[in-house]
Amino acid sequence: MISVSKALQALLDLVSPLDSETVPLRAAAGRVLAEPVVAKRDQPPFAASAMDGYAVKAAEVERDAMFKVIGEAAAGHGFDGRVGAGQAVRIFTGAPVPEGADFVVIQEDVTRSGSLITITDTPSAQSNIRPKGGDFKIGDSLSPPRLLTPADVALMAAMNIAEVPVRRRPTVALISTGDELVLPGDTPGPDQIIASNTFGLDALLRAAGATPRILPIAGDTVGALQTALELAQGADLVITIGGASVGDHDLVAGVTETLGMSRAFYKVAMRPGKPLMAGHLAGSAMVGLPGNPVSAMVCGHIFILPMVRKLLGLPPQSNAHRTAPLAHDVGPNGPREHYMRARLIDGALHVFDDQDSSKLAILADANVLVVRPKQDPARQSGDELSYLPI
Ligand code: AMP
Ligand code: MG
Repeated sequence: MISVSKALQALLDLVSPLDSETVPLRAAAGRVLAEPVVAKRDQPPFAASAMDGYAVKAAEVERDAMFKVIGEAAAGHGFDGRVGAGQAVRIFTGAPVPEGADFVVIQEDVTRSGSLITITDTPSAQSNIRPKGGDFKIGDSLSPPRLLTPADVALMAAMNIAEVPVRRRPTVALISTGDELVLPGDTPGPDQIIASNTFGLDALLRAAGATPRILPIAGDTVGALQTALELAQGADLVITIGGASVGDHDLVAGVTETLGMSRAFYKVAMRPGKPLMAGHLAGSAMVGLPGNPVSAMVCGHIFILPMVRKLLGLPPQSNAHRTAPLAHDVGPNGPREHYMRARLIDGALHVFDDQDSSKLAILADANVLVVRPKQDPARQSGDELSYLPI
């Protein structure tokens, strides 16, 4: 048996970052920046008023000082002239500060009579002017890899970047195997169940920025599996679910071998989990996941998400392990690393008693996986344990 970290390294070695593509700005959120993008302008592009008020010379600002209003500057419409001694320009937020002025007295500090204003309150120390380039300057850049947020989109828009170079989304083919499986919405026969992992993995992959494709369920025949694998061709990553161990009906190993896959089995020392299968098949990375629903989902978090992140050019591990205190005692762990379903409530870890790897309801109730190293001794309430948010 190999450790989880060795297995992960072997899986990561199967993939490398994808090429990039250009998308319109509106499609950039949630994508990973592939090349630096550079501001094409200063923001603001001119010294701009931060308030509604009067633009004057700072040296003349004092209580009871009077000014003659000689014009107006509004957002989008600057004042062409110059502010001289004893002069003011009516100004609004976002307007360019006229030449000669270096202070905006806010309108609340002024009384106006015709074209004359008087400062009637002690003006604040700040100039109420946003300096040119105070937000960002020409040449300022965002650097890859960067998972683009809505705020990044706003920033790139302000920088006048209409097209954004991002990593291509990894395409992932998902193949469920098993005569017992039907799709959600179908009517199962008496011996059948609904394929669930496929849909959980699909959601996990989408949230991670991949484009999964759910292929038709492959029944437990060589032909059905071969057909599904043919349909998967061209995907960056092919994932089979189930049929990956050594039972009579477990065909994935044999069929992929016939198709020329250089395959490795990793008996991974983890719970839940089973032997994983991985290799390259017709130009795609391929991973065979265990069929047990919770095993498949946990392997999705622990192995598949880091592969997707690497394909996207991101550091593979997003979820650095965190720690929190246990809310109660737990027994000792066995010889395999154990990913235990648990809830983090008010900063304390509540580990579910039932860790049966076929039970999705408990996975759905969990918001973290508590990670127990192999042979971890019994732990008491208050002990700090490591966990991964899920
Ligand atoms: P297998 O690895 O094919 O022996 O499957 C192990 C267990 O997982 C069996 O109980 C299967 O019925 C179940 N299983 C396999 N694939 C899926 C799937 N896509 N959705 C839900 N259960 C599955
Ligand atoms: Mg099966």
